[in-house]
Amino acid sequence: MVNFFPTPYPDELLYSTLARYCMRSGNIREIHNFEDLFGTRNCIAAMELPTQLDALIKNMPVSTKYTAEYFIYNHTLFPFLAAFIPEERAKKIIQTMRNGEGAVSYIRIGLISNSITLNKYFRFCPECFKEDIETFGEPYWHRSHQITGVFVCSKHKIPLYNSTELIRAGNRQRYISASHKNCIVEEEISYSNDLMEKMLWMAEDAEILLNNQFGFKEPEWFKNQFRVKLIEKGYARMNNYIHQRKLKQDFQAFYGEEYLNLVQSPISLKNTCWLSQMVQNNSRTTYALRYLLLSRFLGISNEKWTKSPLNPSPLTLFSKSTLFSFFAPKI
Ligand SMILES: [Zn+2]
Repeated sequence: MVNFFPTPYPDELLYSTLARYCMRSGNIREIHNFEDLFGTRNCIAAMELPTQLDALIKNMPVSTKYTAEYFIYNHTLFPFLAAFIPEERAKKIIQTMRNGEGAVSYIRIGLISNSITLNKYFRFCPECFKEDIETFGEPYWHRSHQITGVFVCSKHKIPLYNSTELIRAGNRQRYISASHKNCIVEEEISYSNDLMEKMLWMAEDAEILLNNQFGFKEPEWFKNQFRVKLIEKGYARMNNYIHQRKLKQDFQAFYGEEYLNLVQSPISLKNTCWLSQMVQNNSRTTYALRYLLLSRFLGISNEKWTKSPLNPSPLTLFSKSTLFSFFAPKI
C-alpha cells in the first residue's frame, strides 16, 4: 500500500509520476517501491504501456479517485499507439495494461510494426523543463515528447533532446525522474526550416491523438476514408485501381526523403513498401504515425479520426462503470 500518491502533472507519463513517488517514498531499496505500488516484485517499469494498473489502484490510498482507465488515457502512450486499431484489440491491450504481468511486447500486441525502432532514451524539451520547474517546482517526463517519430515540442516549437536515461535498460526495476543530471543539452540541435515544418505537423497531429477520444474502427473503415480521398485526388479509380507509382512519387515529394527516413517510413518507388500496403486491400494495421503521414498528405483532418476532447478530470472517469460505454462513439 502507498499512503500518498503524487498528483500527475499535465502531459506527464505515469512512469514519471511513479518515479516521483519513488523519490519521496523514503524506500532505500528500489524493489520496495514496487511492493508498495503493485504489491509484487514481479513488475517492470514500462514507459509506453505500463502494466498491472489494477494492482496499482488497489494499493492506492482508500479515498483515491484514480482509475486504471484514467491513467491509460491521460498518462500513457496508449491513445496514440492504439488510435487506429480495432476495438477488440484495444480491449485486449487495456486488459493487459490492467492485469498483464511482466513485459508486454508492443510488437506482439500489434501496436508497432517490426520495421519501427523505438526511441532508446527518454526525451525532453529544454523550455518545458525550465517551465515545469517554475510552475511545479520540479521537472518531469512529458508523454508527448516520448513518441517515436516526434522530434519537436509542439508548445515551444523547438527540437526535443535525448536525456541520458535509457527507456529499456537493465532489469527495468526502477523509475527514474527527469532531473538536471539526466536532461542536459550537450550540443544544440537545429533542423532546416523545411524539416521543422514537417516535424511540427507530426508533433501537433500526434498531440491530437493523445488528447482526444477516438472510435476504435475496423481497418476497413480507415481504408474507405483513405480511398475516398485517393479517388478525389486522382490516385485511385472507383474500381479500386490505385496509381501506386504516382501516389508514391507525390508522397515522397511532399515530405522529402530526409524527413521520411527520420520517421522510419521511406518510400520505395520500385517495390512494395508500407505506403502501398496501407492503401491496398488488406486488414493489416501499421504504426499510428504512418496514418498521420498519409492523412496529412491527403488533406484529411484529424478530427475525422477523433471524437471529442478527453475530460482530464479523474472524477468524471471514476463515475463511469465501463470504459467502452464511455468511449463508444455516440450515434
Ligand atoms: Zn516545450
